[in-house]
Amino acid sequence: MPAYPHLFQPLDLGFVTLPNRIMMGSMHTGLEEMPDGIERLAAFYAERAAGGAALIVTGGFSPDSAGNLSPHPAEMASAADRDRHKPIPRAVHDAGGRICLQVLHAGRYGKNPRIVAPSAIRSPINPIAPREMTAAEIEATIEAFARSAVLAREAGYDGVEIMGSEGYLITQFLALRTNQRKDEWGGSLENRMRFGVEVVRRTRAAVGRDFIIIYRISALELVEGGQTTEEILAVARAIEAAGATILNTGIGWHEARIPTIAQAVPRGGFAWVTRRLRDAVKLPLVASNRINAPEIGEDIIARGDADMVSLARSMLADAAFANKAKAGDRAGINICIACNQACLDHIFSGQFASCLVNPRAGRETQLAYLPVAKKKSVAVVGGGPAGLSCAAIAAERGHAVTLFEAAGELGGQFNLAKRIPGKQEFAESVAYYADRMRRAGVTLRLGQAAGDAELAKFDEVVLATGIDPRTPAIPGIDHPKVAGYVDVLHGRAKVGKDVVIIGAGGIGFDVALYLLEKGGHSQTDPKAFAAHWGITADAAAPGGLDPKGPEAPHPAHRITMLKRSDGAFGKTLGLSTGWVHRIELARNGVAMIKGVQYRRIDDAGVHITVDGKESCVPADTVILCAGQDPRRDLLAGIEGRGRKAHLIGGAREAGELDAKRAMLEGAQLAAAL
Ligand code: FAD
Ligand code: NAP
Ligand code: SF4
Repeated sequence: MPAYPHLFQPLDLGFVTLPNRIMMGSMHTGLEEMPDGIERLAAFYAERAAGGAALIVTGGFSPDSAGNLSPHPAEMASAADRDRHKPIPRAVHDAGGRICLQVLHAGRYGKNPRIVAPSAIRSPINPIAPREMTAAEIEATIEAFARSAVLAREAGYDGVEIMGSEGYLITQFLALRTNQRKDEWGGSLENRMRFGVEVVRRTRAAVGRDFIIIYRISALELVEGGQTTEEILAVARAIEAAGATILNTGIGWHEARIPTIAQAVPRGGFAWVTRRLRDAVKLPLVASNRINAPEIGEDIIARGDADMVSLARSMLADAAFANKAKAGDRAGINICIACNQACLDHIFSGQFASCLVNPRAGRETQLAYLPVAKKKSVAVVGGGPAGLSCAAIAAERGHAVTLFEAAGELGGQFNLAKRIPGKQEFAESVAYYADRMRRAGVTLRLGQAAGDAELAKFDEVVLATGIDPRTPAIPGIDHPKVAGYVDVLHGRAKVGKDVVIIGAGGIGFDVALYLLEKGGHSQTDPKAFAAHWGITADAAAPGGLDPKGPEAPHPAHRITMLKRSDGAFGKTLGLSTGWVHRIELARNGVAMIKGVQYRRIDDAGVHITVDGKESCVPADTVILCAGQDPRRDLLAGIEGRGRKAHLIGGAREAGELDAKRAMLEGAQLAAAL
């Protein structure tokens, strides 16, 4: 009996049969706009097709110039675009897969000066205001979608996905929030949905019957003035009648202030939204968002919530997800931890998408793990993310690797991170890398701090010894009410009602969240998540928002966060996720004081000066989250013996260290050893 029988049933679309129920969902990778992007995308998608995904959807390509998302064009609008794209479907077909081109018109989300929208209403997340489309432009844009699909077909794609969700142009026509037109394209639902329906109808007429048209429907909008579920079901019926092959689920607009894919969202937490489409249409349905493990996909399909599952980031984390799931090799799957750090945050900052737990993603043509020419003995000291990544890859390449870890378990700081609400996924990475090292034959020395004498026996020595938490030189720092974040997160320190956190980096925010949300279930239970964020299943509620709002918090602590610098709090958090943490802390009344000079800590609390004024912030407990320094105590001994060592992760540089950098440095070194 296969481990995930529902996931691996074929799906008959009438003119083509997909081998399983796993779709690789659309992700913008940033390669779309690069000069060598097509070749890199071809390699990227081919690796995922070879990995067993039944159907791949590309990142968004605009049907015309106004619809581009970024200032650099990524279009399927001309014969030249068609010819340029040909290597992508060819590579995917050679690898045994199928691929659809996503046609996306960004409307008012575009970052170019030509942007247009149904009405001239600026998005809160875009400084550029759109121009209202004329009726003639609307007609031309519908034609551009259909032409784009024809070009995609000529390029060799198996189909298109028409992007009708996430707040892009088609959604902007659908919602009263963004469509205030008085002509036949605005007003009644029939008028507002005409644009999207016409796009599908004319696309079908242009491409013929045997070409996949996925329509990504905005199934839960999560913005004020968004569509109600009743309206969404009517749209679904009209899209089916217009000729779509598959209905994929889109959740939330980009400007929604409710997380839709971050770690705060439970696994498979929006499958109930897809389920609601079931009675409206007969089309195969695709569930999406936070489906990162095969058992989650299996349950969704077994329950009948959807016919396929869309995995996007999970395919960055592991290109062979589907094949491994088919073989029942759950432990061999590198699970996406929903951090967004190397994927979405990269896109938001103009870099190409990669993956924190799989640095090779997006670097398929650059980071090769080739068999070694000469086998060496390699000591890796430290079993945190840097050491794990390095040891596994070096051993897989053929080196004889020994990993020393002073603690009784692998994982380094991930064993602290996994205690933070929402970061339980970090435990998956530790388990995955531990298993990968076992398979690669790494010799493990757990509970063993390496000494420099022992390391002298190895051909290569890698120091991945991480960091030491910084203890700032503040008078009273040894007061019994002062605790480090390590002791707090291990539950070794008693934490009183009034808490002051010194330091407001990622760890300061995480510790605040840990204290406030301990025992909550909003990150693991979809019902608790909906109540926590004010989402309702009431079909008449605009945007799916509960008019009562989010549930009231009951914080167990009164927290004040302090920092010396002047910038905004949370500036160093992830671009696509920091706002979630800021909202949580604000809702729980966390006070934040910047520009602080620390005077002393005593029985009363933390004495500070801000703008020349002295005050005391009362505290039962003071928690130090004041950054870190590299731990390289072994280096002097190694160098004293005339040897060299490679430094990676925190051991190399603790400032601006995160696990993304640690894992990448481990992988790059292992590829070069
Ligand atoms: P470490 O993880 O510190 O690992 C070093 C290892 O070396 C340790 O296991 C240590 O025991 C071992 N060691 C040290 N000396 C010796 C010796 N002599 N012999 C043998 N073993 C030795 N990063 C992110 O990117 N995203 C996040 O969301 C995130 N959240 C975090 C939340 C918390 C609460 C914490 C504490 C950290 C978080 N981080 C996060 C930071 C991230 O975990 C670190 O950047 C990363 O772990 C650094 O990896 P490393 O391998 O360099 O060091
Ligand atoms: P950090 O981001 O460097 O923050 C350290 C904080 O301590 C800053 O607020 C700093 O603020 C303060 N500080 C530094 N030196 C101090 C001193 N001598 N006295 C008093 N305060 C001092 O480091 P971190 O929070 O320890 O996090 C470590 C790494 O883990 C980070 O680089 C981060 O990327 C990663 N991480 C990421 C996430 C995530 O969600 N992505 C979560 C957790 C951790 P002032 O200088 O203004 O006082
Ligand atoms: Fe998932 Fe993080 Fe990798 Fe993005 S960077 S794919 S969120 S693990």
